[in-house]
Amino acid sequence: MPTVATSRTPLVESLIRRYAHLPQEAIIKEDLLRGGVAFSDAALEIAAAHQNKSYFIFSFDLAPFEKMEGKEYRKAPEELCLEGGPLDFKRTIVSVRLNPNSPYRVAAEDGECYLELEGARLTGVAFRPRPEYYARKLSNGKPLIEIAPNIEWGYLIYLTVYRICQYFGKEEECKFCDMNENYRQQIQAGRPYTAVKTVEEIVEAMGIIAESDSASRAYTITGGSVTSQLAGLSEVDFYARYAAAIESRFAGRWISKMVVQALPMQEAQKFKDAGTQIYHPNFEIWDAGKFAQICPGKNRYVGRDEWIKRILDAADIFGPSNVIPNFVGGIEMARPYGFASVDDAIASTREGLNFFMSHGVMPRFTTWCPEPNTELGDENPEGAPLEYHVRLLDAWQETQAKYKLPAPPGYGDPGRGRAVFSVSAFMDVAR
Ligand code: SF4
Repeated sequence: MPTVATSRTPLVESLIRRYAHLPQEAIIKEDLLRGGVAFSDAALEIAAAHQNKSYFIFSFDLAPFEKMEGKEYRKAPEELCLEGGPLDFKRTIVSVRLNPNSPYRVAAEDGECYLELEGARLTGVAFRPRPEYYARKLSNGKPLIEIAPNIEWGYLIYLTVYRICQYFGKEEECKFCDMNENYRQQIQAGRPYTAVKTVEEIVEAMGIIAESDSASRAYTITGGSVTSQLAGLSEVDFYARYAAAIESRFAGRWISKMVVQALPMQEAQKFKDAGTQIYHPNFEIWDAGKFAQICPGKNRYVGRDEWIKRILDAADIFGPSNVIPNFVGGIEMARPYGFASVDDAIASTREGLNFFMSHGVMPRFTTWCPEPNTELGDENPEGAPLEYHVRLLDAWQETQAKYKLPAPPGYGDPGRGRAVFSVSAFMDVAR
């Protein structure tokens, strides 16, 4: 990699050297996810003709819309495919997190895009062609891109059916989460953004996708937590209807995934009965004290010990490999609650990985994006250190090998040059 006299490049180079058993692609992918990427005007114009960023659940940006002078959010692509170039990159799919001040920039020359770090060219960049169905609308006029966007290079249809979380305000919202803020921002920007998608809208959208798309292999149903009722229904009854409706119409067409809270066993069983195959009761952070501080709503309404019990109970229903709790990789180091040293943060999360994987349950990561307008993002605009993210990949890979677990289902192929999971590099290092 060409070296320039700035601080980012030497750090990236030294981590690639120190962790030579990890793919360089995974290290740069983590850096792009933790700190975002900028675009030149020419690159944005090219991106605009491709599959655009759909804001499928959170903002996943490091700047709010009002700070994006180039209105990047209107033209940015959903994902980058990095390949070739001076680093001879193997194909790597990365979710786009906009940051006009990032040292990484997608630029263009002669109609071709490339990724540069502090002005030095790293790899080629391609964008995914816009799926045919993105131009379509439902019978009620709503655009498909808003109702049923896809991510992971087309592998996953992402159905955020409820765009608000009932954990509300400082005392309840998870302190890294901008779901409610993002909803406000999207509405203020005049974008179509449906708070509660109906079962009929989802089934109609899936029918159009089933006819016109051959890339998707899985769908996720998700949304904010329901602490009391929504549309007169409890959390499980609200979300299970979508899986039941899709599966009764398109049985087996896609892998069915559900990302909701950890629910009691008899409620989780309702998801299974509705046709859900993979259950993601997201755990976010392992350390008990930090779980309470960073996820105060989950801690108060459910509690950490009960959350863990429910995850293990769910393994009896779905099978351990089909229970995949998400951790938000990096919040362990976020001020004011996080660990001060990378060693301590890794030791804590490694304990959590060992605990779950010893039961055959395999956690996965979303790389923390320090979104502004969240408490942790405001306090830590630079995110967690890249070294933490790299060592987390190392710890995850080592723990997977220790317990001889297969790559988790529902994420596509694992490994360098094959993975499509785009919001962390864990599948890029999975075996
Ligand atoms: S439970 Fe936490 S992470 Fe999930 S949507 Fe609500 S505030 Fe966000």
